[in-house]
Amino acid sequence: MTLSHRLPAALLALATPALAGVLVGTALAAPASAQVPLDTLTPRVAECVEGGHDGTEAARGGPRGTDHREVTRREQRRIERDMARRLEARGTRPATAARAGGTVPVYVHVMRDSAGGGDVSDSRIQQQVDVLNRSFAGQKSASATDTGFRFTLAGIDRYSNTSWHQDKQSSTYRRQTRQGGADALNIWLVDFAYLGVATFPWDYARNGAIDGIRVNYTTVPGGSATNYAAGETTTHEAGHWLGLYHTFQGGCTSSNDLVADTPAQSSSTTGCPAGRDSCSLPGLDPIHNFMDYSYDDCYLEFTPGQSSRANQAFAAYR
Ligand SMILES: [Zn+2]
Repeated sequence: MTLSHRLPAALLALATPALAGVLVGTALAAPASAQVPLDTLTPRVAECVEGGHDGTEAARGGPRGTDHREVTRREQRRIERDMARRLEARGTRPATAARAGGTVPVYVHVMRDSAGGGDVSDSRIQQQVDVLNRSFAGQKSASATDTGFRFTLAGIDRYSNTSWHQDKQSSTYRRQTRQGGADALNIWLVDFAYLGVATFPWDYARNGAIDGIRVNYTTVPGGSATNYAAGETTTHEAGHWLGLYHTFQGGCTSSNDLVADTPAQSSSTTGCPAGRDSCSLPGLDPIHNFMDYSYDDCYLEFTPGQSSRANQAFAAYR
């Protein structure tokens, strides 16, 4: 299986007409602020569509520049206020929360097809957790930040269900299989057109039963996804799960991803183009950042600002 982009063009072709239909339907039926029931949308479309309104999903992939749900500036501001309120209610100073760190129990659900295809061995799953720990500990580069997060494998289960393997009825299978509380990272290994899809921490209160990340099983270390089989899709999705936006969120704007030390970039990166500088704002594009779309072997770091943000979101929501 070859995925040349984080979101293959074939999926875009597939999703676009349906997406347009849903958007029109939504606009006619209800104001943009109304909730769109998750189960009324097919999963792949839901990831693309719900986002700007009221959804909970984030997908990794996208020559069109979006792989997580669109969060408007207005909603970003609301989320920031909510996060600050929650920290205050817990009596936690933002500066303290920013460096708190955390231990995250990880539950891995291997969604095989009915013939057992798509299995991932226990040893590869442990390698995946090891990748998470190295990446979040800043061990891939001298300039990388140790975020303070550590991941411990809390459980592995396996299912043999072709629909689930193909990520169909994802809300159903997540509700039936999710384990742990708000602080538990649930990873469902499936075969779908994305490399990965994540929920955001501020959506846990409303949709905790489906909280977690779905990851293409071919991206787990030792998998078959060309350029994306070093396990860093899981790192990227875990970044969303901890409250990080893409480094290209907002394009060439100073607020961008609400992280001050990730230079603005106009769009997502493909591959590993050294020296890319897509905005006139200061700094080269952060192509080595886990929250861009670069190849796995191009991913090297989270920044101090991202570490602070993820820690504050963890303290506020998880
Ligand atoms: Zn993403």
